Amino acid sequence: MKIQTPRGNNIVTRVDDLINPVDSTWDADLVQSIFWGVDASRILQIPITSGREDCVAWHYNRSGMFSVKSAYHGQWKRTFGARLNMAQGGSVSNVQVWKNLWKLQVPGKVKIFGWRALQGLIPCRAILANKHIINEGACPVCRNGAEDIKHIMFTCDRVRAVWKSIGVWEKINSLLETDRSGSIVLEEVIRRGEQIHGLGIVFAELMLTGGWLLWWERRQFVHGENIQSPSRSGLSIISLAKNYKLATKQESRLRQGWRKPPENFLKLNRDELGGMVAATNTYIPHLVDAPMAEAFALKEGIMLDQHIGGNRIIVQSDCMDIVEIMRNGGFTANSAAAIYDESHTVWCGFQEISIEHCNRDANQVAHELARRALYTKENCIWDDDPLVSSWMRCRMM
Ligand SMILES: [Zn+2]
Repeated sequence: MKIQTPRGNNIVTRVDDLINPVDSTWDADLVQSIFWGVDASRILQIPITSGREDCVAWHYNRSGMFSVKSAYHGQWKRTFGARLNMAQGGSVSNVQVWKNLWKLQVPGKVKIFGWRALQGLIPCRAILANKHIINEGACPVCRNGAEDIKHIMFTCDRVRAVWKSIGVWEKINSLLETDRSGSIVLEEVIRRGEQIHGLGIVFAELMLTGGWLLWWERRQFVHGENIQSPSRSGLSIISLAKNYKLATKQESRLRQGWRKPPENFLKLNRDELGGMVAATNTYIPHLVDAPMAEAFALKEGIMLDQHIGGNRIIVQSDCMDIVEIMRNGGFTANSAAAIYDESHTVWCGFQEISIEHCNRDANQVAHELARRALYTKENCIWDDDPLVSSWMRCRMM
């Protein structure tokens, strides 16, 4: 949560000063007099508990707790994020290039090749000569021009012959009309995301798979090995690109639905036989952020279980943050800390309780209930009659 109100102009320096010491609630008048309306209402929505020790919160992680992973991401963004924006003018269309690149249906090594080509990181002779690593930058294959990214992917005599053999040279040639570097041409191809009719593949997929294969053949050639004819290379490129697409198409994702809990256990949201025991939904009109909504849902869930007298429960959530926080004893340093504290107190009252992560497919009932809450804007608990009929009643009203 980021405060919009400008700093300074008041004597309050600590959050503690905004809390009424008598009943440990926000001093609403004070908060409203110091902060702009938008900030004041968000601050007042943050639940607080008395007697909680101060702690250091790490804002790169949603739980407010430090992790090496989040530190790495923070540092990466700091080092490369700015450079990425600077180098590319920060425009949306350039971000689109990277998005398109990672979405292409080509093997990982081909994507990496694409990334390196866009960054100018292919060790072509002209690039190495520019860096004074070698003396000569000419193309070892055709001896007709400097070996740079444009040359190895588009303009080398052999490469032209390959592209001509599979009928895409005209398309490439039109991209080469203006004088641009190979990386920029490639960027254009990826940004456009054009399909090749009849082949069922994206033009960029063909270009990158081709670029990767041609670069590999070039390495073979330099090391004195025989390489196939341009037309055979062309066929290899098409079959590589098409086969990969076909292979990934057949790979269907395994659907992991709901699984029943062991005997004598209740699963938050169904019992061991798969029958409905109780359900609840709550409409929360104002929320600071998504983690707080997740924390609310957890609290409501385990309080419902307490309400119906469940003693052994397995909580399932599709939110990994919740699972991790509750496994760590419910301690967190984010804005939902007070709700977790409360949940943890209820949690400790169960004879046996555990939490596990499930994917969204296993959670459809919960999503339906959430949709219902949004639609009716009211709170409901079903602990006697089956949900379906009450739900239908609600809908018919
Ligand atoms: Zn050449």
